[in-house]
Amino acid sequence: MTHRTVLVINSGSSSIKYQLVDPDTGDALASGLVERIGEESGALTHTHNGERHTEAHPIADHGDGLRRVIELCDEVGPDLQESGIVAVGHRVVQGGSHFSRAAIVDDAVTDRIRELIPLGPLHNPANLKGILVARDLLPDVPHVAVFDTAFFQGLPPESATYALNREVAEKYSIRRYGAHGTSHQFVSRSVSELLQREDLKQVVLHLGNGASASAVVGAHAVDTSMGLTPLEGLVMGTRTGDIDPAVAFHLCRVAGMDVAEIDDLFNKRSGLKGLTGHNDMRVVRGLAEEGDERAILALGVYTHRLRKYIGAYAAVMGGIDALTFTAGVGENNVELRAEVAEGLEFLGIHVDGDRNAVRASGPHVISPDGAPVTVLVVPTNEELEIARQSVALLEN
Ligand code: AMP
Repeated sequence: MTHRTVLVINSGSSSIKYQLVDPDTGDALASGLVERIGEESGALTHTHNGERHTEAHPIADHGDGLRRVIELCDEVGPDLQESGIVAVGHRVVQGGSHFSRAAIVDDAVTDRIRELIPLGPLHNPANLKGILVARDLLPDVPHVAVFDTAFFQGLPPESATYALNREVAEKYSIRRYGAHGTSHQFVSRSVSELLQREDLKQVVLHLGNGASASAVVGAHAVDTSMGLTPLEGLVMGTRTGDIDPAVAFHLCRVAGMDVAEIDDLFNKRSGLKGLTGHNDMRVVRGLAEEGDERAILALGVYTHRLRKYIGAYAAVMGGIDALTFTAGVGENNVELRAEVAEGLEFLGIHVDGDRNAVRASGPHVISPDGAPVTVLVVPTNEELEIARQSVALLEN
C-alpha cells in the first residue's frame, strides 16, 4: 500500500497540538506543540525522526503558529506532500446532538460548531479557530471534524436524560453529552480486538488530568460519567466531578460568589488540586507515601469514586467482562489500579500483582488467567483514532 498520512490537529485556546499520523500503521511521522500563542513567550516544539526541534518567539495567533509548523515540515521534514497527506483531522470537543459521527468540514459544519459554542464555551471556540486557519493554509486536502461527544450520541435516553424540568432541558439543549469519546471508542475497540469478542460488557476508565468512565456493550456506549460538560463524574486533576448542585447555590448565598467564580472553583481549583494543592497524581502519590493526611484522603476519595462507578456500570450492563485503565494515570499508576480493584472481587475483578507491575508500551492484561473479568491497561491514542475516522469517512 502506498504511504498515506493524516495531519491531526488539537487546537486549544493558546496552543496547537499536532501529529502527522499514518492511519494504517499507527506510526507518527511527526508531532509537536505550539504553545503560549498570543503571549510574549511563545514556543514551538517539533519532533521528526526522533529529532526534537525547539524554538521560542512570540506567535501572534493560531494562523501564525500553524503557518510556522507547515514551514518547519518543509525545512526539517517530513515533506507533507511526499508523506501522502490525505486529510487534516480536527479534534472538536462539543458536537451537541447534531454530530453522531465525524463530519467532512464545509461552511455548514463550521457554522454548526460555532452554534454549539454555548454548550462548549471552554473548547469549541479554540477548536473552530484551528479549523479555520488550517483550511486557509491547507486548502487542497479535505478537513474532517472528529467530535469528542459523538461516541456518546447514541446513549440510551434513560442514561442521557437529566431528571430536570423537561421544557427547560429541551429549550436549552440540556442532556448528558459525555466527552473523551474518541479515547473511549479507541480503547473499547482495542479491547474487543484483543479479546476477539464483539459482545463484551466493558468499563473503560480514562484517567488523565481530565477523567471519565464509560460503560460499553458491544460497540455501543450505554453510559458515561461526563455530562453536559466535562465537570460531572470522577474526581479529576482540578475538577470536582460529581457534587451536589446545591453546593453552588450555597456558595452563592453564603459566600457571595458569582457564577464565574463558582465555575472557576469547580473546574480549576478542585479535584486533586483542591484537596492537596497538586493536580499531578505523581505528586499526590508521593505525598501520601510520606504520610501526608490530605493526600491520603484525596486518594481515598479518588478510588472510592472509581469503585462506585465500576459497580454502577456493572449493574447498568447486567455484568462486566472487561475493565480497562487508560490515559496518564490509568496507564502509569500501578498502585492505583491495585487499589481500585480491591474490594471488587465480588464482581469477579482481580488484579495480578506481577502482571500489574509490568511496564509495557502496548495493551496488556493485568488480571490472572481464568479470572471472570479481564482487567487491562490499554494506552489510548486519540490522534490515531482521529486519523482512522478521517480516512474511513473519506472512503465512504
Ligand atoms: P493525561 O491527561 O492523560 O496526559 O494525563 C496526565 C496525568 O497523568 C498527569 O497529570 C499525572 O497526574 C498522570 N501521570 C503521568 N505519569 C504518571 C505516573 N507515572 N504515575 C502516576 N500518574 C502519572
